Amino acid sequence: IRRYVGLFRVRGAITAAIWAIPVATVPIAFLNPWHLFRGNPSLEIGVAPFALLHADYGPWYWWILMPFTFLVNMATLTMLVRGIARGDRLCRLQHGLLTLAFLLPLIGNLLYVFDVVGWSDYNPAVGLLSISCLLMALGLFRYGLFSIVSMAREKVIEELADAVIVVDRRGRLVDLNRAAERLLAVERGECLARPAEEGLKVHPALLDAIVEPTAAARAAVPLRRDITIDLPEGPSHHALTCAPVTTRRGEYLGRALILHDISERVKLLERTREMAERDDLTGLCNRRHFLDLTARELERAQRYRLPLSFLLLDVDHFKKVNDTMGHQAGDELLRELADLFRANLRSSDIAGRVGGEEFAVVLPETDLDSAAEVAGRLRETVESLRLRLDTLGDPTLVTVSMGLAEFNHQSRGRPDDFRTLYERADRALYEAKASGRNMVVASKEESGLRAVG
Ligand code: GH3
Ligand code: MG
Ligand code: MG
Repeated sequence: IRRYVGLFRVRGAITAAIWAIPVATVPIAFLNPWHLFRGNPSLEIGVAPFALLHADYGPWYWWILMPFTFLVNMATLTMLVRGIARGDRLCRLQHGLLTLAFLLPLIGNLLYVFDVVGWSDYNPAVGLLSISCLLMALGLFRYGLFSIVSMAREKVIEELADAVIVVDRRGRLVDLNRAAERLLAVERGECLARPAEEGLKVHPALLDAIVEPTAAARAAVPLRRDITIDLPEGPSHHALTCAPVTTRRGEYLGRALILHDISERVKLLERTREMAERDDLTGLCNRRHFLDLTARELERAQRYRLPLSFLLLDVDHFKKVNDTMGHQAGDELLRELADLFRANLRSSDIAGRVGGEEFAVVLPETDLDSAAEVAGRLRETVESLRLRLDTLGDPTLVTVSMGLAEFNHQSRGRPDDFRTLYERADRALYEAKASGRNMVVASKEESGLRAVG
């Protein structure tokens, strides 16, 4: 009953005490040493329509077994009645039936033991027990006494798509459902009753959540957070709920961890972010994202007094490319250019498509001379790109012009803002176009604009 009403952590000492008397009673009843169990029982025939057994119980029965039985019954009833007061409708019905089933023979026994109605020959408890059995049968078959709720829960947990892992307070694994076995590629039989560190050692991300500071884990409210588990087929994202398991009295028993797969959602989010930040033709940063990242880099350059260069690139006579080879070939060329940036720039450089055939690159921690070198190399590589375009039509000379500017920490008493930097690079680009295209022009503070590549 303790288990049934939810006090399922029955202590060993209590269990032993409860078992001691019934276990001792069995040999005592059979062997009846010193007439402990009965004195001189006799069978009387003829005084009633049935044979009467004068059991003639001994001291063990009256002073040990009976008081013990009453005590246990009273404790049981108390627990059941408290359960009725707390439980929901189904629970109350089941508890009610059980209570009645316990109460009936108890009352019968009391009447008999204290000889209340002068029936010392008849123990009504025996007859009432049959009624109790009927009540229990009703509970069992009609209301699924003992079984249905817990069985249903067990079934639900077992069949759940979410992985469920239960650890006790010492961090040992006490349960895993099928989804957990599948997800973590572990066998329940192999890791149950073992410390989580051993059973789940191949999943360090999950272990961090399990062997987390106990104070937080014991918090009454479930903790929620997202974790990523590395699986052979790739990272798997999960929303982890870590719920403390307590007895009804609030005693901490352990934790149940529920892992809900959110990989799809995470993928979708990543894709949405990708779409919001990337230019879909070239895969480079789109204008807005480029400006965001640039602002961040400028701030960093300013704070740590680092050099930073800014490059604007425009395809020469792009309209002609479109006109002679078609818009699609123009698109293809833009993609080729983007690939070229990806191949020739450092990973810390930020390249974006800021207009139709205009690109911008931020080169953090790069002074003007180094940037000019990078730009010159880019320009030369583009020149050689016409070879690739041959496959699309007539060989056409594709060239680009670039304007370069370096971030100035102290121009007229204050650092450049992005607009100034952009304007200087734009002026340099205009100069490159005006001076015949296919060249790099740098904006130099002291000597004005100068071709550098
Ligand atoms: P230059 O810069 O050397 O002065 O000459 P240009 O021909 O490149 O001049 P302009 O900037 O006026 O022309 C840009 C052309 O780029 C116009 C437009 O049709 C084309 N364009 C803009 N965006 C795209 C695009 O996404 N795909 C293609 N194929 N063409 C584009
Ligand atoms: Mg152009
Ligand atoms: Mg243009």
